[in-house]
Amino acid sequence: MDAKNLALLKDTAADLGISLDKTQLAKFEAYYSAVTESNKSFNLTSIVDEREFVIKHFIDSLTGYEYIKEQGSLIDIGSGAGFPAIPLAIAGVKRVVALDSTMKKVNFINSACCALNIANVKAICGRAEESRAYFEQFDVVTGRAVASLSTLMELAAPFLKVHGLFVAYRTDGSEAAAAVHAMQELNMRLVKAHDLTLPNGDPRAIIVYEKLAPTPKKYPRAWGAIKRNPL
Ligand code: SAH
Repeated sequence: MDAKNLALLKDTAADLGISLDKTQLAKFEAYYSAVTESNKSFNLTSIVDEREFVIKHFIDSLTGYEYIKEQGSLIDIGSGAGFPAIPLAIAGVKRVVALDSTMKKVNFINSACCALNIANVKAICGRAEESRAYFEQFDVVTGRAVASLSTLMELAAPFLKVHGLFVAYRTDGSEAAAAVHAMQELNMRLVKAHDLTLPNGDPRAIIVYEKLAPTPKKYPRAWGAIKRNPL
């Protein structure tokens, strides 16, 4: 990776309260190379410019870290090529599960993490709404670019322990207004909607919810029902 882009990553992470040492920076570099290399044979990301990659994948993924930090366990729903899961794992989240419904992406994450010695990540293949074996086990759930906020909340809430946090990567904090019904139905509470701007000027928002009580048994519904009648 270009020295300028590496410095951008290090400095912006520092602004976010994350101090990345040499080993961590080397892992970011190596993960960038792994994604770029695999992208030649199958589509993992449409972002190919190195600076855009650093901003939109690495730095963006780290914007939620202050709400997650050393919380014990995290599941990232619809992780794709590993975002935000992998940057959060490199930054220091203890136990990270990356869930995706596409086997190729899951295989990519597992083999890259194994090769790069990122030992705190496990990728699993499955649809969130069908992954009951993992429900009620996590301190934090994340999700970026998977579904609307209310739909993602329906997928996310079941994975949380009571008092666990749902950290949603969105574009605008005002999106929370459209998810009030979902929040109430799912026994969640809005903790914070945090608007920010990425170094390239793109607007982002981290919207944080706390699970107040167990998720009603009727959620999550089957995907067809969620799509037909979103909360
Ligand atoms: N979070 C990544 C990828 C976003 S693309 C990023 O921001 O870069 C959305 C991903 O979610 C795809 O990889 C898709 O396979 C996965 N996905 C969509 N619906 C899902 C579901 N119900 N359960 C698990 N994964 C899902």
